[in-house]
Amino acid sequence: MGKALIIGAGGVGSVVVHKCCQNPEVFEEICIASRTVAKCDALKNKLAGSKTKITTAKVNADDVDDLIALINKEKPDIVINVALPYQDLTIMDACLATKVHYLDTANYEPLDTAKFEYKWQWAYREKFEKSGITAVLGSGFDPGVTGVFSAYAQKHYFDEIHYIDILDANAGDHGYPFATNFNPEINIREVTAKGSYFENGKFIETEPMAIKKVYNFPEIGEKDMYLLHHEEMESLALNIKGIKRIRFWMTFSQNYLTHLKVLENVGMTSIEPIDFEGQKIVPLQFLKAVLPDPASLGPRTKGKTNIGCIFRGVKNGKPVNYYVYNVCDHEECYNEVGSQAVSYTTGVPAMIGAMMVLTGKWQKPGVYNVEEFNPDPFMDALNKFGLPWQESFEPELVD
Ligand code: NDP
Repeated sequence: MGKALIIGAGGVGSVVVHKCCQNPEVFEEICIASRTVAKCDALKNKLAGSKTKITTAKVNADDVDDLIALINKEKPDIVINVALPYQDLTIMDACLATKVHYLDTANYEPLDTAKFEYKWQWAYREKFEKSGITAVLGSGFDPGVTGVFSAYAQKHYFDEIHYIDILDANAGDHGYPFATNFNPEINIREVTAKGSYFENGKFIETEPMAIKKVYNFPEIGEKDMYLLHHEEMESLALNIKGIKRIRFWMTFSQNYLTHLKVLENVGMTSIEPIDFEGQKIVPLQFLKAVLPDPASLGPRTKGKTNIGCIFRGVKNGKPVNYYVYNVCDHEECYNEVGSQAVSYTTGVPAMIGAMMVLTGKWQKPGVYNVEEFNPDPFMDALNKFGLPWQESFEPELVD
């Protein structure tokens, strides 16, 4: 059916490549491109024998001309951006120049400010519309599946959704005293930022990790979870009619938080460059270099993740509570594709989002968040491609 150019060959990129190769009717060809081409070649070799034809390339995704040259050479139907959020705009520019569809899993962030906002990418709406190409923003798990869950709940079970709690639990144990499950720089920028939630039309900011609740997660048990800012709240606040409040919660162990506090207190999580032995270094980037590579956690991680959304609202004048979630097992993911569940739960929805575009189910010129498309074919594909979901109409509530 089509060809995808996958940019980024890290933890998430590896899962996207495996999943595209499990779906050769849709992904007849893929090109894996990244800064370090050896990682792309290693993936290609691992999947030798797959029906999907695989090529590899070196690309600097910060450079629009380099990207345009690669797209013109490879002629993909869609670019799947699983590099870093810093590259979103350059890749979107290259897609515009070559009229190729675009998909990512994380919103653009400027390198020098940890700010999670869609405004930079939403500014491309008219240009994508005029070029007749589709950009799907945030097609990982959160953002991604959480938005699809919201669209599904709205379509099938509610006249109005009033409250959304997004709950992201990771009960995985990798055996290291401290490591992050995806890119450490992006992860630490996210969790050291101020928290926020949406209520009555505006965002209310909190100090980092200031609000904590305990929740009894299906198949995982009781966990401490903390209120964080998370990018899908921004688009859901606009796209879910009647919404009064959206909160995002993520679980952290006391051990993780203690390590993080120490690193923060000594200045290791700062993104301000400092002089070190005659050169400028960014402490957080140096920290990334000494922490375990997330891709290496796969064989060591045991336990499960549970990510989902609890909706409260009304249908036919009656109150409705609805919880939809996926439970994913780190070891099963590793056995299937050689990655732990955090990369898996991001890479599978990225492949599915690209499949939605290539099969025409999610094609409309412009720039869209996932909840703006029909959720039904995506929900079916989650069950088929390794992220089955479960639902409950009598969930335990957060408060
Ligand atoms: P990794 O750091 O493991 O991989 C990033 C990849 O991008 C590497 O292959 C890296 O190359 C490549 N890359 C970085 N900069 C460039 C560049 N300038 N040009 C070309 N390639 C580049 O990250 P992850 O796989 O863990 O994460 C990928 C994305 O997924 C991130 O944007 C992250 O925010 C997002 N994510 C989304 C989630 C969701 O649920 N929505 C959850 C988790 C992650 P090299 O090997 O040379 O460094």
